[in-house]
Amino acid sequence: MKIVVGHLFPDYLNIYADRGNMAVLERRAAWRGHELEVLPLGAGAEILPGVHDLFYVGGGQDREQALVAVDLAAKADAVHEAVARGAAVLAVCGGYQLLGRYYRDRDGVELPGIGLLPLHTIAGDRRMIGDVLLDCEWAGRTLAGFENHAGRTLLDDGAKPLGRVVHGFGNDGESGFEGCRAGRVIGTYLHGPLLPRNPWLADWVLAQAIAHASGAEAPKLEPLPDELEREAHGVAAGRARSRGGRF
Ligand code: GLN
Repeated sequence: MKIVVGHLFPDYLNIYADRGNMAVLERRAAWRGHELEVLPLGAGAEILPGVHDLFYVGGGQDREQALVAVDLAAKADAVHEAVARGAAVLAVCGGYQLLGRYYRDRDGVELPGIGLLPLHTIAGDRRMIGDVLLDCEWAGRTLAGFENHAGRTLLDDGAKPLGRVVHGFGNDGESGFEGCRAGRVIGTYLHGPLLPRNPWLADWVLAQAIAHASGAEAPKLEPLPDELEREAHGVAAGRARSRGGRF
């Protein structure tokens, strides 16, 4: 199966090696006999209906977000349509913030979002930095990663978080939740990159993309020998625990 990924603004939104998430998806797809084709979707790039099975967008400083926000907003209808047709989305930090209605940065400038996720974000004075551990009850799993953001993301009532914060700040340092998920769309503050130390989420994202590519149900992917990934998860989770963050 060929899986087509639209990588939004890879040159601008790519901090903390967020690009590494693509490498993990490419390898885990190949180990199951699938081919991952990653197409960059930069400024002015057109999103054609039905082409992309998955969209990925990484994180970035306020300056980079300001450079891409208007162009991303111009792609909003095409992304909404693709998601309505079953395409999946994984967005990290600055990219996650721009999936909401808007991101108001530290200077009070409101950057438009694409309104794909039921949330908005307002930058605070103090950055929320450190290792994070989440409990994802919906998957019966934990996620471990690293956060560094000024933004406080506020989910709308009824919106589903990605996970409950066990250690760390999460969306806003108050709610006790992190990220947001809506169907095949996932947004999170977790860098690291995220997927090498959380292989179950990589497989979940891959399965959603394969479901779109095949027009069938999301497949149960054959397990891989993830000793190294589990060890990496353990180390990151241990750092989050020792940090003894806000929650
Ligand atoms: N610039 C945004 C913030 O500070 C996102 C940062 C990031 O992507 N790490 O909240």
